[in-house]
Amino acid sequence: MAKYRLGQEKRGVVFRKTQKEKKRRFKRKYILYIFAAWILANVLLFLVKEYLSNYYFSTQLPELSPENYKKILIFAPHCDDETLSSAGVIQKALAAGSKVKVVVMTNGDGFTRAAGQNFGKIRLKAEDYIKFGYLRQKETIHALEDLGVDRKNIIFLGYPDRGLRYLWEKYFDSKVSYFNPLTRTFHSPYSNSYEKNVQYKGVNVVKNIESIIKSFEPDLIIYPYSRDQHPDHWATSAFVKFSLLQLGYKGEEWQYLVHRGDWPTPFGKHPDMFLVPPFKLAFTDTKWYQVPLDGFMIEKKANSISDYHSQIKVMRGFLEAFIRQNELFAKLGNSVAKRYEGDNLFSPKYLVMEEPTHDIWSLIFEKGADIDSIYAAHDSENIYIGIRMVGSAKRLINYYLHIRAFKDQKYLGRMYIQISGSKMKSVKTMTTPHFSLDNSEFQRNKNYMKIVLPKKDLQNTNMLFLSLRTEFLGRQLDRSAWRVIQLK
Ligand SMILES: [Zn+2]
Repeated sequence: MAKYRLGQEKRGVVFRKTQKEKKRRFKRKYILYIFAAWILANVLLFLVKEYLSNYYFSTQLPELSPENYKKILIFAPHCDDETLSSAGVIQKALAAGSKVKVVVMTNGDGFTRAAGQNFGKIRLKAEDYIKFGYLRQKETIHALEDLGVDRKNIIFLGYPDRGLRYLWEKYFDSKVSYFNPLTRTFHSPYSNSYEKNVQYKGVNVVKNIESIIKSFEPDLIIYPYSRDQHPDHWATSAFVKFSLLQLGYKGEEWQYLVHRGDWPTPFGKHPDMFLVPPFKLAFTDTKWYQVPLDGFMIEKKANSISDYHSQIKVMRGFLEAFIRQNELFAKLGNSVAKRYEGDNLFSPKYLVMEEPTHDIWSLIFEKGADIDSIYAAHDSENIYIGIRMVGSAKRLINYYLHIRAFKDQKYLGRMYIQISGSKMKSVKTMTTPHFSLDNSEFQRNKNYMKIVLPKKDLQNTNMLFLSLRTEFLGRQLDRSAWRVIQLK
């Protein structure tokens, strides 16, 4: 009996249990369905937003016409940047009878991953990198010939990939040349470089660029945007702009963007979408423009991009994201520093540079390293420079202000200023000997820094070309554009 009753009881428990279980399962299923629907709705919303905003931004971009220029000179930091940025411009210009020349700064031989993949090796020797450089040159020639550019209009300068930034900063006017650790040379090892065996120094880059511009006499120069995050790209931008200042170039300048976070979203081939500026850069002091392409041009651009076999292997999605309805260009004009009236330097009338903020995740934690804006003014005696950060500085953050001074078109020299804590000093090896910081003043208050430089200590300059960057424990966190500031 007892056994039986026990069994019955047990059965009752089991029955109740299964009822409960059913209910729970139903609940679980229900929650799962809601969750799936919620995810689906969000994905749809994201896509609608992405496509709608993409279309909306594209309608806001004024159009540029490459056909209006007779001679177009394009600068590419690496083999492929000219095609990603300007394959449509090249086609339009050539169809209109214009001349196009392309200058490739490096042979892209420092892309270790792509080189390794290409040769199927992990350990690469110097000669492998050089071999890879020649291979990338061939891809450029192929891609550009497919667009109608003659081999004789493609110039390879042969400077070190991943080294241009050092040539612009430390090895600009130094006694020793930069050593490329990959090709293991102090000079270009390529037999077809514009200047054979050219030593790796910034002054030589400028000399080459100026000589090409003088002989070709372009009326449109296309080069990288100064806020591109890739060091070779922003350094190329600075080198070209510096050369244009020395030459007193009066023609048109367009800048293009290639590297900035996860831009251009979404990766992959979306020929119906538009190339629009990254959100953070859309509302700064830059004006954005577009060159629309037709279906045939888009197809030819896609074909030329596919000529870059060594790059397609490692980053197809990124390269194909440039196959769109248009090409995107920026214009970043010169700033003017007004006469100083002895009032607040941080008032809007003295604003010369506006930088995007919170644009890298690490800057959310290091607000003192996030550059907000730069102010400048001058009077008969002094130059006043104001730096405004998002948050207060911390002791471990270093600030580097790199100033290149001009008088009219003549380059006078440079000053590399390091600010850490409440101290300011110039870095001797990177400062022109006759420039001095001895009579300067420096003040700091929370997130504001003010520098006063006597004009005579900068040889009575009337034009500055400058940029600010920040470092935390030796790691670069933020960097402003390189900008021309005229003292008027
Ligand atoms: Zn590049």
